[in-house]
Amino acid sequence: MADSTTIDLGAEAVEITRGLLRIDSSNYGDDTGPGEREAAEYAAGQLLEAGIAAEIFTTTSDRRAGVTAQIDGTDRDLPPLLLTGHLDVVPAVPGEWMHAPFAGEIDDHEVLWGRGAVDMKDMVGMSLAVLRHWHRTGHRPRRSIALLLTPDEEAGGAHGAHWIVKHRPDLLRGATEAVGEVGGFSVTLPNGRRIYPIQTGEKGLAWITATLAGTAGHGSLINQDNAVARLTTGLAALVGHPFGVELTPTMQTFVAVVSDLVGEPLVLDDMEVLTSQIGALSAVVGASVRSTINPTMLQAGFKHNIVPAVAAAGMDVRFVPGQEEQVLDRIAQYLPSEAELSFANRDISLETGFDGAVVEAMIAALAAHDPDGVPVPYLMTGGTDGKAFSTAGVRYLGFSPLKLDPGLPFWGMFHAPNERVPLAALRFGASVLDDFLRRL
Ligand SMILES: [Zn+2]
Repeated sequence: MADSTTIDLGAEAVEITRGLLRIDSSNYGDDTGPGEREAAEYAAGQLLEAGIAAEIFTTTSDRRAGVTAQIDGTDRDLPPLLLTGHLDVVPAVPGEWMHAPFAGEIDDHEVLWGRGAVDMKDMVGMSLAVLRHWHRTGHRPRRSIALLLTPDEEAGGAHGAHWIVKHRPDLLRGATEAVGEVGGFSVTLPNGRRIYPIQTGEKGLAWITATLAGTAGHGSLINQDNAVARLTTGLAALVGHPFGVELTPTMQTFVAVVSDLVGEPLVLDDMEVLTSQIGALSAVVGASVRSTINPTMLQAGFKHNIVPAVAAAGMDVRFVPGQEEQVLDRIAQYLPSEAELSFANRDISLETGFDGAVVEAMIAALAAHDPDGVPVPYLMTGGTDGKAFSTAGVRYLGFSPLKLDPGLPFWGMFHAPNERVPLAALRFGASVLDDFLRRL
């Protein structure tokens, strides 16, 4: 695929992604960040400059902005496909980076650095490049494409996707299916086989604070009702009884396909063996095949010799589709019965089949550009805007294609310092995205 049109598309994908990376749209989680307006203006500007009608919309304030545009297809009987991405990024601590996080630097190895390089200004840049390319070359898709760039994905979408579903459902433009993050990028297994995990589901989440009241008193005395001791004992018991493997249809397919590629059944209950089989991907897969509970915060006391009246623990709970109740029951079973549980965040799990015209188009586009790559569905451990969209009846698939060097620790770069993407991966991704959308 080395014709001049493809080269232009790839070059534009790089330039536009770079432009987005130079804009600080950090989301601190509490609406104190700079907001997404500047990124929205940049993205809308790229479309308007190419002659595509694009609009900026705002959500809960002037700073919280996104972009909407529609490319009308030739078959108006088909509902549009929602092509979606978020404009915000998680914050970056510059001192932890080898290149400044908001400079869009390209290093000597043709790698583009910056917060958002993989999550997910890369996909936004590729999407904008493809739509510009179509407009320039006069291509009209069969199925309409509704572009929706959102604010506030990184803090759960109360100023973004959830707000849109509630207050501006017209921005979904009647779409029944959406494509966004997190999937479609290659992962090379230790034996050299290359897979493309495509997100067809998400675990549900509950951020729980457990608060336990006890009897306060002098630290030198016997205290049978020490809130710190009782709460941490319960937490230890909870963590000591991890959830067993629970394969949803998505991960049944994943395990079957990848076991075949590895040449032996994946050993899901032994992380060491699993890592030898599938490399660093084991951290993701290990958490995709079971519900998990991670204690993440502890709060109690103020002096060594005083037993405090209250202790509290924060937990990040992620359940596989269908296990929410069972997981909450388990927490209630192991923590002291008087512990009060409150939810700082709670959201649904999702799962859809690895089938239908959209999935087939993804598979065909990947096969055309990387015949040795094997597309496979997977269940994402985190959450995306897909949760909000699905409450509006939109089926969500994570497909932001990139072909990556085997050595690149891609999964490890999400929300981490030194986020970066090779230019070749972006060029490949833009071509695959273009091909995929043309097949719909
Ligand atoms: Zn993201």
